[in-house]
Amino acid sequence: MAQHRDYYEVLGVSKTATAAEIKAAYRKLAMKYHPDRNPDNKEAEEKFKEAAQAYEILSDEKKRAQYDQYGPEAANYMGGGHGHGPAGMNMDDIFDAFGDIFGDIFGQTRTKSRKKTSGPEPRRGHDLSKEIQISLKDSYLGTSYEMSYYHFVPCTTCAGKGMEPGTSAKKCTECDGNGQIQFRQGFFMYAQPCPKCSGTGYIIPSPCKTCNGQSRTQVYDKFSINIPAGIYDGAELRISGKGDAGVYGGPAGDLFLKVLVLADKIQTCR
Ligand SMILES: [Zn+2]
Ligand SMILES: [Zn+2]
Repeated sequence: MAQHRDYYEVLGVSKTATAAEIKAAYRKLAMKYHPDRNPDNKEAEEKFKEAAQAYEILSDEKKRAQYDQYGPEAANYMGGGHGHGPAGMNMDDIFDAFGDIFGDIFGQTRTKSRKKTSGPEPRRGHDLSKEIQISLKDSYLGTSYEMSYYHFVPCTTCAGKGMEPGTSAKKCTECDGNGQIQFRQGFFMYAQPCPKCSGTGYIIPSPCKTCNGQSRTQVYDKFSINIPAGIYDGAELRISGKGDAGVYGGPAGDLFLKVLVLADKIQTCR
């Protein structure tokens, strides 16, 4: 454990603070540094633990007296015989004892149920941007431009579903479709991505073999574009739906074409 910090200092209360003041101070800190509100923040987690430990001692009249008289060691080992760790804390007991404090906090954040999914979520495909060059003459008169490029299109085998025809995605039973597994360690609640479904909340039993379950394939596509007469250099044409196909049936992105007008060859004098 790191250098011991004075428990009163940790909670930001005076040595003569009342039990109610200590509780209020701890509650404030616990809410501020709660892991749910500071995901992946080691510093907050440390502060949260530190505050919990300080509260554990100072909220107990006997331990607080021991602490005041003999310092942290005496207080931590007091009431031993339960075979607890060096801090003398049985995390589960404390969680239950502090339930009224955590109850509110968890009440707010825990009931906010995560969106359950029973299959892949359609997402829009990327927009693509390309540059094309046309002659000055074509820019005056307008032209038809033969566009050829690589982009994603929906897989025709599975119709953009990413699954073998006739099969469907199943809700992950491991996490009940939440994509997360929650577990408790002491009074800290942790959530981690479900290992079975990699945090997606669903399982695809038979991915489409054509697209490897990606729901789309890359093709070399060709089509002609009408370039309107009078187009200027640097103009951008937007061709709706000609970007990358969406995944799992999501809408396709757009193709943005930047039109560069080539200057006419300048007659040079010799
Ligand atoms: Zn497919
Ligand atoms: Zn799962």
